[in-house]
Amino acid sequence: MKETLYTIPLMDAFNEEEECAFCVIERKLEQDALDYILGSGAAYMQVDIREVTDKIGFCQKHFKDMFHYGNALGNAIMLSSYYHRVNTQLAKRMESSPLAKKTKLFKKKADDEEEEAKLSISAWIRDREEECQICGHFKDTYIRYLDTFFYMLKEDENFYKRVMQSKGFCLHHYAQIADGIEKHLSGDFKAKTMKDINQLMKENMNRVEGDLNWFIEKFDYRNRDADWKNSRDALQRAMQKIGGGFPADTWYVSKK
Ligand SMILES: [Zn+2]
Ligand SMILES: [Zn+2]
Repeated sequence: MKETLYTIPLMDAFNEEEECAFCVIERKLEQDALDYILGSGAAYMQVDIREVTDKIGFCQKHFKDMFHYGNALGNAIMLSSYYHRVNTQLAKRMESSPLAKKTKLFKKKADDEEEEAKLSISAWIRDREEECQICGHFKDTYIRYLDTFFYMLKEDENFYKRVMQSKGFCLHHYAQIADGIEKHLSGDFKAKTMKDINQLMKENMNRVEGDLNWFIEKFDYRNRDADWKNSRDALQRAMQKIGGGFPADTWYVSKK
């Protein structure tokens, strides 16, 4: 099988034996993006990077990640430049359109300044909320991992077996996998894969539910001395399986 840049990290993600290999990949890509933007390479000081930041900004989740990452000065410098643009834009909008002038009729993004200027204040704010430089930074790479996943499923029997022996996926990534099966696979193989993945998900969703129930049972004094079985960390795994991500993770911090 042809090896790509993504083959080995994808295998590694499955070998971590977490509740979802795509959560593992997403976490790694998010950490890489934080290192890139705020880390020792100081991308936040480069004019071209700052131009993107000024235009796009960050989502609520990633502001929080950036705050805890630890480069306070880097964060502040980037934010200050971003504020300058936001305040300029906001002032223009308030002067020209105290009342909503144009709401978004289409789900299209306002890409250029001219289009952006036509938006009402509320539409302009919502437009910003949908965008994030960190989300955007790893989006393209993430898609390549998904493509590689389906390529390997088709081409490598051992990988197929490995996936079907894994713990499955979180619901969030299960949706992407289900869409991907439609897009990338066909014929009997598509039907077989969908059936196997559904079975895998069913078994593993039930397993986690069982772990969670035993976790609750352990609070009963009669079970005080009983074995934890696999339930010691059932709470965070149950949260992850439904919502994605790693609820028990500590903050990812700068290595500096
Ligand atoms: Zn996941
Ligand atoms: Zn984001």
